[in-house]
Amino acid sequence: MRIASLGSGSRGNATLVQHLDTTLLVDNGFSLRQFTQRLLRLEMEPCHIDAVLLTHEHGDHSGGVQRLCANHGIPLWTAVGTARASLPPDFEFHRLVAGQSVTIGGIEVLPVTVPHDASEPLQFIFHQLDNGRRLGLLTDTGHITSHIVAAFSRLDGLLLEFNYDPAMLEQGPYPEMLKQRVGGNHGHLSNLQSLDLLRQIDTEKLVCLIAAHISEKNNTPDIVDKLIRQLQDLPTPVLANQNAGFDWISI
Ligand SMILES: [Zn+2]
Ligand SMILES: [Zn+2]
Repeated sequence: MRIASLGSGSRGNATLVQHLDTTLLVDNGFSLRQFTQRLLRLEMEPCHIDAVLLTHEHGDHSGGVQRLCANHGIPLWTAVGTARASLPPDFEFHRLVAGQSVTIGGIEVLPVTVPHDASEPLQFIFHQLDNGRRLGLLTDTGHITSHIVAAFSRLDGLLLEFNYDPAMLEQGPYPEMLKQRVGGNHGHLSNLQSLDLLRQIDTEKLVCLIAAHISEKNNTPDIVDKLIRQLQDLPTPVLANQNAGFDWISI
């Protein structure tokens, strides 16, 4: 299995997960033109994508999904609540339910429910069926629940949100309402909350750790990198970038 990102952050997200001949796209917050240009960096075209999985309706994840799926005939998988909040009523999709795995090609997808200020937000764990490797994605989550700790333990790969540094958010340029939203129980994970998750989960098998959805205003890649490197026995982190994303990483 391998993972790549076309961009990560509040100005747009799109993540690719691929195994053998199955390519899944998680979210697309980019215009079709932007998306296609970014995909070309990986020498791919939209027709190479087998399915789109949509985590939730916020524009940085859903903004380009409808057009991409409609124009290229790509099947969409999402929760009913997310579809209602982001798509026309007659738009066809496959239903995802938290805790119920679906198999798409050679990849089993487990949707995990997370606390976030959206209708029915999901994050995903991908299970490579032929050799059991597992990759988890966790962004857009307001706080760590015991359910999340259980679901994201013993993974081989983890893409984890490091959204904000609490002091930078506090002193930063966001209006008070937005500060409270981001920092609240249904907002985003701070660096400290994500570090705390890494301490709580079993990371013995982890060979790939990606820090993602890093705020450009309330955080820096440097702070995130230093914090993660303080923890023992973790792989050297890859930092996902808003413009560049990251190139394929094998798990
Ligand atoms: Zn987001
Ligand atoms: Zn969100």
